[in-house]
Amino acid sequence: MDISAKLEVIKGVGPKTAEALEKRGFRNLKDLLYYFPRSYEDYQSQTNIADIKPGRVILRGKIRNLKNIHTRRRNFTITQGEIYDETGAVRVVWYNQPYRIKNFDEKTTYYFTGQYDFKYNRYQITAPTVALAAEIEQKVEGFQPIYSAKGSFSSAWFKKLFEKIRVLFTTPVPDLIPLTSAPTYIKKGTRNQALFQIHFPKKPEEVEQAKKYLGYEEVFELILASQLNRQENQKLRAMPLSFNLDLTKQFLKSLPFELTAAQKTAAWEIMQDLTKSIPMNRLLQGDVGSGKTIVAALAILQAVNQGAQVALLAPTAILASQHAENLTKILSPFKVKTELLIGATKQKEQLKQQIKNGEIDLIIGTHALLTDDTVFQNLALCIIDEQHRFGVTQRQKLLEKIALNQQNRPIDDKVALNQQNRLADNKATKQNEKYTAPHFLAMTATPIPRSLQLTIFGDLDVSIINQMPKGRQGVQTKIINETNMREMLYPEITRHLEVGEQIYWICRLIEQDQEDPLEKDQRTVKEEAKRLKKIFPKYKIGILHGRMKASEKDQVMNEFKTHQLDILVSTTVVEVGVDVPNATQIVIMNADRFGLAQAHQLRGRVGRGQKASQCFLITTGDNPPSARLRELEKSNNGFYLAEVDLKLRGPGEVYGSMQHGELNLQIANLADIELIKDARAQAVKVAANPENMLKYKELSQSIKRYQQLTTLN
Ligand code: ADP
Ligand code: MG
Repeated sequence: MDISAKLEVIKGVGPKTAEALEKRGFRNLKDLLYYFPRSYEDYQSQTNIADIKPGRVILRGKIRNLKNIHTRRRNFTITQGEIYDETGAVRVVWYNQPYRIKNFDEKTTYYFTGQYDFKYNRYQITAPTVALAAEIEQKVEGFQPIYSAKGSFSSAWFKKLFEKIRVLFTTPVPDLIPLTSAPTYIKKGTRNQALFQIHFPKKPEEVEQAKKYLGYEEVFELILASQLNRQENQKLRAMPLSFNLDLTKQFLKSLPFELTAAQKTAAWEIMQDLTKSIPMNRLLQGDVGSGKTIVAALAILQAVNQGAQVALLAPTAILASQHAENLTKILSPFKVKTELLIGATKQKEQLKQQIKNGEIDLIIGTHALLTDDTVFQNLALCIIDEQHRFGVTQRQKLLEKIALNQQNRPIDDKVALNQQNRLADNKATKQNEKYTAPHFLAMTATPIPRSLQLTIFGDLDVSIINQMPKGRQGVQTKIINETNMREMLYPEITRHLEVGEQIYWICRLIEQDQEDPLEKDQRTVKEEAKRLKKIFPKYKIGILHGRMKASEKDQVMNEFKTHQLDILVSTTVVEVGVDVPNATQIVIMNADRFGLAQAHQLRGRVGRGQKASQCFLITTGDNPPSARLRELEKSNNGFYLAEVDLKLRGPGEVYGSMQHGELNLQIANLADIELIKDARAQAVKVAANPENMLKYKELSQSIKRYQQLTTLN
């Protein structure tokens, strides 16, 4: 079949339906064929409501008392009702799918498939998928695909649609991947078979087989895109920044400590890259507290010494301010002029003029720095701190902006930019060398597992700091139930306050939203601060959260740094980067509600000085602590925890926002290293021959979505 054909080739799909489908992102047959079932159901295994047990259940019944409840917080909607059969009734809930309510008829019998468990103080079945009983029962096979609904198109609707597409398979779908030296599970015709079996399987094994091929295809496309991006990147020109040994030595001597071996290696790799005219595209990974900032400082010094400008971007104003303060301190003796540009900065216009004139060497800021009227005179190095906080698309925008906001570079888009480079290459006239991209350094404390590094970040070089500065004692972590705080927590906190140490006290919420049952019983910054004033009356307590003005946040943070405050009750705004070595204790309330990576990052706020530090994970309720919290208790190693996280939650959850929002990997299991290696080998081969992209039209079209995503420069 011609999979680029318009949807009207499907029998029964007219212009109106086609248009509605197009609005949902289905422009042609291919879009539909690649809309895979989100699960499959074996309807013969249904349960009577009277016999229901926690876990995954299939119920056959009717629905009643459906209503939508709105909460104030972020416009949250809860759709709740009751599913009943001859044996009993059970509560059912959907979150943020208000349209659900319209899909039901009280007289009709449905199959409901979903998770039944204890949530927010009662048992319920949460967000089940729904199918019409009449339709399920007219089929012989009990094994059937479930599609995610899209707007008013229900799973059942999609199933009917696919029945009509089924007949089009009489002429096969052509292969996508050039089949030279592919692994054995990718034979001629596998694609056609896989697309058929994913939608019309007779048994579970067929689905597995189809997924193997389709997963391979996805990963292959992703890696191919990043390979091609890498090639494009090599064609760009950056300003070569030569290395100055004397200056580097002097700078290192001025520091109050010696670099760790890992810091030295990372710095060396970066400083080598900077000397080249191919733009650096490097990720610096190092656990919280491993000392990435100083490595960045070395790179900044090298650039500024060559008369170039440097931009340093941080995800929060607090962190940007802190960087400005630190880097000014250590770099100003070396004649680096540093300024801070955040939302709250006064006299922005004047500052931007100075940036344009090249009077400022190092400009540090949040994305407020990247408005259209910020133009650099001579930007040669761009550093993004805590880059995982920016999100893939956002990061991409930042970089495009940076590349384009350089003077004398009226370039419309990346393509023009690349073409111009190729022209420049041909002429190779050294004097009119045009620099078309800055060197780029991303820093992150969130380790990227190997599998992902090979796929989405395949076009990045990586440096790793896998060692902590000398003398760090590590952080002791303890899980304590709320009900034991009086005996186990308060005396410990008091002991540390008495010897002049400081405490972080973390809550998820700022204040209570009474109407939101999801957030009931959650500790809030405002309430906790009041409560702690009574428990620790001798000590100064401050609060910090995202709804405060930037200037207020700065002031509180400063008071904490200068020890005018003993306890800082805060939301996760302190999560990234903040450095107060005298703070030795961190208490995380409702710890069960935090992700592993986030809790580890929060814990990294302590253990930054020479003193022993502790982290208290406070749990709520009678359940034993989760596996996640126990792993945190056991290990301080961010790389280990990232692997654990991947195992506990699966790649779909860990990279959830990426997979759903941006990457949209539907099938591929990023934990399947073998498959990834196979796909990589093949992608490298295909990328090596530029003619391939002309020859395989569907492929070159298809990888465009990934190419935009993985590119960084
Ligand atoms: P992160 O990698 O989390 O960004 P920072 O760069 O903020 O870590 O460094 C954490 C702390 O460790 C800072 O106070 C910094 O001055 C200090 N530090 C960095 N490198 C060393 C070192 N080699 N020896 C001792 N202290 C160091
Ligand atoms: Mg940092």
